[in-house]
Amino acid sequence: MARFIFITGGVVSSLGKGLASASLGALLQARGYKVRLRKLDPYLNVDPGTMNPNQHGEVFVTDDGAETDLDLGHYERFTGVNARRSDSVSSGWIYSTLLTKERRGDYLGGTVQVIPHVTDLIKEFILKDTDQEDFILCEIGGTVGDIEGLPFLEAIRQLGYELGRERVMYIHLTLVPYIAAAKELKTKPTQHSVKELRSIGIQPDILLCRADREIPLSERRKIALFCNIREDAVIQALDVGSVYEVPKRYSEQGFDRQVLKCFGIEDKGAPDLGKWDEILDRIQHPKGEVTIAIVGKYTGIGDAYKSLSEALDHAGIANQARVHIRWIDAAGFEKEDVAKALQDVNAILVPGGFGERGVSGKLAAITYAREHNKPYLGICFGMQLATIEFARNVLGIKNAASTEFGPYQESDDRGPLVGLMTEWLRGNVLETRKRDGDMGGTMRLGAYECNLSNGSLAAQIYGNASIEERHRHRYEVNVQYRDVFEKADMLFSGMSPGGNLPEIIEYKKHPWFVGVQFHPELKSRPFAPHPLFASFVKAALKETKQDKKEAA
Ligand code: GLN
Repeated sequence: MARFIFITGGVVSSLGKGLASASLGALLQARGYKVRLRKLDPYLNVDPGTMNPNQHGEVFVTDDGAETDLDLGHYERFTGVNARRSDSVSSGWIYSTLLTKERRGDYLGGTVQVIPHVTDLIKEFILKDTDQEDFILCEIGGTVGDIEGLPFLEAIRQLGYELGRERVMYIHLTLVPYIAAAKELKTKPTQHSVKELRSIGIQPDILLCRADREIPLSERRKIALFCNIREDAVIQALDVGSVYEVPKRYSEQGFDRQVLKCFGIEDKGAPDLGKWDEILDRIQHPKGEVTIAIVGKYTGIGDAYKSLSEALDHAGIANQARVHIRWIDAAGFEKEDVAKALQDVNAILVPGGFGERGVSGKLAAITYAREHNKPYLGICFGMQLATIEFARNVLGIKNAASTEFGPYQESDDRGPLVGLMTEWLRGNVLETRKRDGDMGGTMRLGAYECNLSNGSLAAQIYGNASIEERHRHRYEVNVQYRDVFEKADMLFSGMSPGGNLPEIIEYKKHPWFVGVQFHPELKSRPFAPHPLFASFVKAALKETKQDKKEAA
């Protein structure tokens, strides 16, 4: 029977609860246990699918097509376990399920209340599909004290009561800030945060204390005494150079040992962290470096392209090179700026995106990459735009565009180059969408198969004739244009099994120019860097050598 570990946060948000949870998952795994991680988010959106990445960070997509919080990406990267729809839930989803049941009459005329009805649904969600694992780690989004979070905290309190302390434990992540004027680390916010948690009936078993410097033993003792926690269960969470260092640093302080102790499980020796040492060594001792420009619309916050920057780091691990990212805001980036901004980068990437704003800047960057032999990777929108750029500037189809930008000027009977798809096959099942349907959860979402053309760069990179990648988009490149593109050496080298949906394009007259309709970054892992990114960074490294040759 699975044991449950609940992770809450206090004092401020953005302390890295997701990474802390993922790291603990990895440590338990390294001790031979089977783990699964879950995220419970208190906001009222049904899922993050319609949320602005500038506000909430990227939307992570699972194989089974759920649009989830970006923390699920950390979970997958740290544990290698594919997340499922049943690993992410929000208050919005809980309430909409509850209200559907109420309308159906499921509550038989009873008064529907937060306790027990909302809390019961939350508990049901936490307990579902957990018979294969040793540990389920559930991270509660938000910060203790948030009004929306209360039903979740009540639900996990009840689970502690119902399942007993042998099967449930609580970890609380707080901040111990350094106050420059006093030259001291302050424990009061942590004390208050724990007090808040205890007032709801939850006594944390372990405290993780984020601090920017070593917390002296005397202060850790103080925290332990005032928060009613064993001294060795007050773990420091200090800032580190790479996120992949976190599991090791935690383990050095006995975090995983303390977790076992809480459950009364015998400690059979240290976890095997050999593979973590290996990647850290590669990260800390790079033999080369490259700079890659990412031309996108949400360049203001790092979290908006989290999986992407991680995938590039993984490709750095694969090539033992440091990958620097130059973020370029596509909005307001015009032809005149392009050469100046891009001439010294080693590769260019246009990521996924939505809407027409910033498109001209992205198209200019793609033209630059194509004409100057800079390795180019176009992801989803970045592939659609690469076809539009090629059609307009190489094939002379001046009005080539996407119906995403508004009504399309037909120039012939092939229709729009990139158009809204309203029907497609997932395996043998026909999926359909309405033009004026809901925005949420209605894209082509999740893992789909793709067949690669013999002898193509794509087939060579993947080393396979058939692959599966995750999707999140409404529009598709129109296959009717395949002939004209291929005659001009732009191959449609990856296609959906039915042959209708172009999934990969590659330009034969260029050292490395690839566009993919899916999001390969979602499947990249530090221990299994994604082949496309590894190959892209390798091409960028080659470009640096080219640079040097030209300079000499
Ligand atoms: N906006 C495009 C579409 O919906 C691309 C989406 C994306 O890049 N994820 O098809």
